[in-house]
Amino acid sequence: MANQSRRDFMRHSLLGLAALPLGVGVLSKRAFAQDLPPLDPESAQAKALGYVETAADASDNPAYADGETCANCMFFQADSQGCQLFPQNSVAPRGWCQSWTAKA
Ligand code: SF4
Repeated sequence: MANQSRRDFMRHSLLGLAALPLGVGVLSKRAFAQDLPPLDPESAQAKALGYVETAADASDNPAYADGETCANCMFFQADSQGCQLFPQNSVAPRGWCQSWTAKA
């Protein structure tokens, strides 16, 4: 009985240790993502794609359609508010740019 408990303890401890790097990786990635500076709509990259922080402000852009926002774009990463097209910055969930693509 005591051997069984010791075995269970060792197994759970080893599983916990094995999962530790994964947890640390997830946490550090999230912490890093939260440090991303917001994309400046006046920057050259943002202007090249017609990025705006409020989607409705793009209503005069022929590529824009009602309801399109970063939050429902396939390039948006909700956990970090990042965008795959602007990997150095976060974007506004209510923003938009002309590369908007519906989530699959
Ligand atoms: S690609 Fe999508 S998530 Fe990125 S800025 Fe444009 S609309 Fe927003």
